[in-house]
Amino acid sequence: MKFVGAHVSAAGGVDQAVLRAHELEATAFALFTKNQRQWKAAPLPEDVIEKFKVACEKYGYQSHQILPHDSYLINLGHPVTEALEKSREAFLDELQRCEQLGLSLLNFHPGSHLMQIEEDKCLALISESLNIALDKTKGVTAVIENTAGQGSNLGFRFEHLAKIIEGVEDKSRVGVCIDTCHAFAAGYDLRTVEECEKTFKHFDEVVGFKYLRGMHLNDAKSAFNSRVDRHHSLGEGNIGNTVFSWIMKDARFDGIPMILETVNPDIWIDEIAWLKAQQKSENDEAAA
Ligand SMILES: [Zn+2]
Ligand SMILES: [Zn+2]
Repeated sequence: MKFVGAHVSAAGGVDQAVLRAHELEATAFALFTKNQRQWKAAPLPEDVIEKFKVACEKYGYQSHQILPHDSYLINLGHPVTEALEKSREAFLDELQRCEQLGLSLLNFHPGSHLMQIEEDKCLALISESLNIALDKTKGVTAVIENTAGQGSNLGFRFEHLAKIIEGVEDKSRVGVCIDTCHAFAAGYDLRTVEECEKTFKHFDEVVGFKYLRGMHLNDAKSAFNSRVDRHHSLGEGNIGNTVFSWIMKDARFDGIPMILETVNPDIWIDEIAWLKAQQKSENDEAAA
């Protein structure tokens, strides 16, 4: 079973995100549980937590269909101690908010070395950050997102993701989310079925599908291997529709939230319907 949705707004309260996902006829969704551009947020009020849970129940969203995203400010591999501490505190708060909401996944960007430390040192700091946070929480899996490799952001090579996982003590609570735009911008081709097979075979060898907990389905305004992170609507960018249709037909992507972060929210409903239809065409073929 495929779960498809979009990163919806939580304006007005996290419970409102659930309604927005439902209106899109989505079977998955992503959200921020606090303002993603601020360090501090007020704790989630009890009544909002309750409303969120009731809405998820009502509209049929279970925790494995929901992929919350953490704040963009957090850098779990920060080279400077005080700044690293601040990020670790904020990340713990994000995990605790997920715990409170009954969510089982938290999607985050690995971190940046800011040209001040070696890649390996930065990756080790990220693993250590995860060990600290996971030790203080229960039931939430930290989901590392691959990046486009813009600036000094790590996580643009599958090897980076594998290295971070290697340093995490509780492997049952770490996973990855592959963003198609980021992968393409980082030099993993996805423009043809052959390239998709090749890229995800490589992913399986380096990281392993057993760690795949989510997907971000985005086309790319940025060019192949440009290390620039610019999303586009499905089929309108430099990747094209092939990969999205291919993913919807491949059982290795079953059972995880697959989230649009495409640039035009007005057509999310159409993009979601199109993705679902790709899956159906496979079933029809199989039945024929
Ligand atoms: Zn992200
Ligand atoms: Zn993403």
